[in-house]
Amino acid sequence: MTSTVAETSTITHFINGVETAGSGDRTQSVYNPATGQVSAELRLANAGDINAAVAAARAAADSWGNTSMARRTSILFAFRELVASHIDELAALITAEHGKVLSDAKGEIGRGLEVVEFACGISQLLKGEYSDQASTGIDVYSFREPVGVVAGITPFNFPVMVPLWMAPVAIAAGNAFILKPSERDPSPSLLLARLWKQAGLPDGVFNVLHGDKEAVDGLLTHRDVDAISFVGSTPVARYIQETAIAHGKRVQALGGAKNHAVIMPDADLDNAADHLAAAAFGSAGQRCMAISVAVAVGEAADAVVDKVRERASAVHVNEGTTPDADMGPVITPASKSRILKIVTEAEQDGAALVVDGRDLVVKGHEEGFFVGPTVLDRVRTDMSAYSEEIFGPVLVVVRVETLEEAIDLINANPYGNGTAIFTSSGAYARTFQRSIKVGMVGVNVPLPVPVAHHSFGGWKNSLFGDLHIYGPDGVRFYTRGKVITQRWPEPAHVSAASYAFPSS
Ligand code: NAD
Repeated sequence: MTSTVAETSTITHFINGVETAGSGDRTQSVYNPATGQVSAELRLANAGDINAAVAAARAAADSWGNTSMARRTSILFAFRELVASHIDELAALITAEHGKVLSDAKGEIGRGLEVVEFACGISQLLKGEYSDQASTGIDVYSFREPVGVVAGITPFNFPVMVPLWMAPVAIAAGNAFILKPSERDPSPSLLLARLWKQAGLPDGVFNVLHGDKEAVDGLLTHRDVDAISFVGSTPVARYIQETAIAHGKRVQALGGAKNHAVIMPDADLDNAADHLAAAAFGSAGQRCMAISVAVAVGEAADAVVDKVRERASAVHVNEGTTPDADMGPVITPASKSRILKIVTEAEQDGAALVVDGRDLVVKGHEEGFFVGPTVLDRVRTDMSAYSEEIFGPVLVVVRVETLEEAIDLINANPYGNGTAIFTSSGAYARTFQRSIKVGMVGVNVPLPVPVAHHSFGGWKNSLFGDLHIYGPDGVRFYTRGKVITQRWPEPAHVSAASYAFPSS
């Protein structure tokens, strides 16, 4: 998909407060997945562009880190208002390049705004601690300072929310930030950059560097980048962590997922089926918190499969601005082919294809990358439909006999991002929540995405690094602690130096 520079519509970088084409001569086509048509050409960064973005961030970082908390916070408040007042424009850009329906695009902006609101209160979180008279005549206090230059590398599936998981907290904490958005839906990040500038953020504090692996590698190995936040697929997350650590940077790298929902026989099965369908097919299944495996326990199975079949068959698939559309296309033709192949293999290996979305054609959008809601029942763990992250509108159903079996199944899975249980029993819910080796757990909540004042992150192959993203962990990640031990002796009482280790 890489081509030479086109004369027409190109999407540029945003470096040091200026939209710039940069010096790279490679571009990549950006598609509208609903029409299958190219909508723009994206400039891909070369080494010169990477250096320019890092130099701008480095030059801005010290002065921004020394800017008063009151000034930083006022800019965050202004940015919050601007994002809120541009929600329609941002959502339209998301839908045009990602394909998700407008209501879903607005939903992701809303969740991103929550993080901006959290970051508006950063002064409360950066308050230090003070120990008066920790030793005789000595006071000790600690506070947190920004790390410096932070790079955020983000996936296609949330082109506004995931950048907003990172940048507001990093910037409020006093860092300069370079966003390397997904090359598949890059336009919303440019609008965010304009809004930061309009909010009064000094040039160089928020930069957008477009690109592919070359840009990512340039940031990972650059000596003037201090920290890397990454969200994307597991193989890339693992690579990001290893490379960033080898180059002396702190790193948090959130990876892929295979989220299971357990449906107990005592659950309200209509409610469970409503939520399963929404969590499996919303955003065409392209959410890291999508429910992609329903673990039906005992006699819940037949009823749940019937109820999910009804709901899957009623989903309106269409171009994302269509008023009654529930679900849009998947992101690329390659993604579509991969999803269809996995479904076909599962059927050949003995899974029951309850709802088949492979042949869906949306009238008027015949070239779009659409896959209809698909339900596979009686899936086994040795099938690729179970072992791989499908990242499409496919719900697989695995049948088990007991809650313990369900828990063992989930704990044996290499991913550990999110999971949920549907039940009316507090005892089942409590057993589940205490036994499960997953970072985010929903009880009768299918997409347990933590609110902004908690932190977001999975376990196992869904997170490489120690700290989760946004919330209190985000503040810790984007700052480092400093401890001051101070004594102000009266001039008359200065004593001779002692060579023993200091004690009280
Ligand atoms: P991806 O890993 O392909 O790309 C993510 C970013 O990494 C992009 O900016 C891309 O340019 C860059 N990249 C891709 N390949 C690279 C390589 N070989 N070397 C260096 N950089 C590279 O992910 P995607 O397809 O854009 O997004 C979907 C994935 O993201 C899914 O696996 C999904 O589960 C995951 N995701 C996880 C979370 C989470 O919170 N855990 C949230 C959203 C998405």
